Amino acid sequence: MTAQHRFGIGYDIHRLVRDRPLILGGVEIDHDKGLLGHSDGDVVLHAVTDALLGAAGMGDIGELFPDTDARYKDADSKLLLADVVNRVQEAGYSIGNVDLIIHAERPNLSAHKVRIRNRIADILHLPVGNLNVKAKTNEGLGPVGTREGVACTAIASLMKIE
Ligand code: MG
Repeated sequence: MTAQHRFGIGYDIHRLVRDRPLILGGVEIDHDKGLLGHSDGDVVLHAVTDALLGAAGMGDIGELFPDTDARYKDADSKLLLADVVNRVQEAGYSIGNVDLIIHAERPNLSAHKVRIRNRIADILHLPVGNLNVKAKTNEGLGPVGTREGVACTAIASLMKIE
């Protein structure tokens, strides 16, 4: 019996606009702007979804849920991620851990990290200790720094016992 360990990365960025709710990691956060997107614009769940797909060698979120498909208009990203968790598990993998960085100049996310962590761990059926959430500003630099958008970088590990 051998254990196969695999790793995948994910990244996403969406534009901040008025009159949209701000949803990060499946959690609605009080802010004067939200993220524009065909779905709910949840960059955090999109990055985690891509990290899992990458580790499993299953392509990317845009291939599975194309933004040209009306079924995914305003889609709840929690459901898309849950679908990918099922696909990954059906392929024989179990999720090891996920670590992620939310890149946001505003709002300050320190008060929201615990809720985001708990929510994603719940979607992935992971102990919260296996799910880590970090938040950083971009020191005023680039589109994140000028508050035009919010981005997320994620890494996931998968294991398969053969
Ligand atoms: Mg996205």
